[in-house]
Amino acid sequence: MSESFDVIVIGAGPGGYVCAIRAAQLGMKVACVEQRATLGGTCLNIGCIPSKALLQSSEEFHHAAHGLADHGVNVANVSLDLARMQARKGEVVGANVKGVEFLFKKNKVTWLKGAGRIVATGQVDVNGTVYTARHIVIATGSDSTPLPGIAVDETTIVTSTGVLELNTVPKHLIVIGAGVIGLELGSVWRRLGAEVTVVEFLDRIVPSMDEEVAKHFQRILTKQGLKFRLGTKVTGATKCADGATVTMEPVKGGAAEELKADIVLLAIGRRPHMDGLGLAEVGVALDERGRVKTDAHYATNIAGIYAIGDVIAGPMLAHKAEDEGVALAELLAGQAGHVNYSVIPSVVYTDPEVASIGQTEEELKHAGVAYSVGKFPFTANGRARAMGATDGFVKILADKTTDRILGAHILGPDAGTLIAELATAMEFGASAEDVARICHAHPSLNEAVKEAALAVAGRALHI
Ligand code: FAD
Ligand code: NAD
Repeated sequence: MSESFDVIVIGAGPGGYVCAIRAAQLGMKVACVEQRATLGGTCLNIGCIPSKALLQSSEEFHHAAHGLADHGVNVANVSLDLARMQARKGEVVGANVKGVEFLFKKNKVTWLKGAGRIVATGQVDVNGTVYTARHIVIATGSDSTPLPGIAVDETTIVTSTGVLELNTVPKHLIVIGAGVIGLELGSVWRRLGAEVTVVEFLDRIVPSMDEEVAKHFQRILTKQGLKFRLGTKVTGATKCADGATVTMEPVKGGAAEELKADIVLLAIGRRPHMDGLGLAEVGVALDERGRVKTDAHYATNIAGIYAIGDVIAGPMLAHKAEDEGVALAELLAGQAGHVNYSVIPSVVYTDPEVASIGQTEEELKHAGVAYSVGKFPFTANGRARAMGATDGFVKILADKTTDRILGAHILGPDAGTLIAELATAMEFGASAEDVARICHAHPSLNEAVKEAALAVAGRALHI
């Protein structure tokens, strides 16, 4: 038996590393087990951060090539240096993962390098050494969901991990799944010159988003050159000499079809990761969808074992995992940790961005809630016009009787930043009128939020 800790966190993604830091801040002796060579999990190494680096770089390239002339800025011979773009992405990731290592040192969190396995209550094996802890936190994240009939090799048939590493621009990229990963990473390669075909099982894109927003979003992406095959089921993909052939058929029935591409991206969702963790042996219960089952305080059915992040229920988002990490550390310290699941923003970092919080119009209809809608287009916002970024709108849904904001959906420039104002408002239980009466700087994109809030009461000023 070797060293003993108050808390051992398994997995150093945004859920695990934040939980470890917060527990250490609260005076606990903490270790975090991570098998990857660097800290930060999926998010920092192969997810949020590298994808946003490539989204930014590809947007700069596309704007330099196509967006500047309108501003009276002529740039001749714009060319792509993909090797430099990828190297920059690596630098961005490197700075972030080193940052977490620094934070561990600063907070005296011990990094146990290797794969962790729970061998009994309060005992974690790492590389043959068993460490003990009063509390064990499972924060082992998620992996790409496989599709039967498709063998991923991460060079021709890839997941998000492989598509972030391509060193040439594909001529034709087929994306399976019109979710967040498919649309963000499809956009990256489209901007760099690839023909991109997105094949989606459902008859709409981004299924969890407000339908009206999704329809407008699809129209904009189509204008950008993405091709959509909706209501289409992919049945297989096989590698051939110069790429891969994808077989698909209409969901409603009809003839099967083959489509060739040089790269195929499989992006049909993610599933919890718990390989080799010893959960079955210890008796940790899973829910009906194979996720670690927890109560409202992140406790599993086994005393002293907790779970947070992608491995449990809820949206698979880094900020949700982080907030659960903080809440759990505070609960373990005897405080009142809590996450408000009805106010978790979700952002698609395309151009324009799509941001969403609270309920969609469809969810309100389904729940029989009487609501009012306020909408305001960016075409009527002075700052958006000055920026040349007028695609999209702000949509606010408020309770018909109380005017309390129940949901907000933004398609437009910097929507991911704009949604934070509505998150704050919703956390404080604000009405649409509360937001409408706040003084917003002019000219700012946030004025579109204020106008949508005014529109809830039918009194927008600038439309
Ligand atoms: P993870 O980040 O998956 O971390 C789990 C860690 O545990 C991993 O490092 C793994 O190596 C380690 N581990 C697993 N098992 C063991 C073991 N037995 N022993 C030791 N270590 C182990 N979310 C957003 O909010 N915004 C975004 O913009 C965004 N973009 C994304 C882009 C892509 C391409 C992908 C794939 C995901 C994206 N996500 C985004 C989702 C986000 O990455 C996840 O929700 C988040 O990383 C989940 O955090 P986590 O801590 O639960 O798990
Ligand atoms: P997703 O759940 O967002 O989308 C998957 C899509 O694939 C769905 O539209 C689904 O209908 C479709 N699909 C499923 N099976 C199919 C089939 N056989 N053929 C065709 N289409 C099929 O999943 P994702 O895009 O892989 O993302 C995984 C997770 O990562 C998400 O939960 C997301 O929250 C997270 N993520 C977040 C961000 C962000 O916050 N910006 C970015 C990337 C990933």
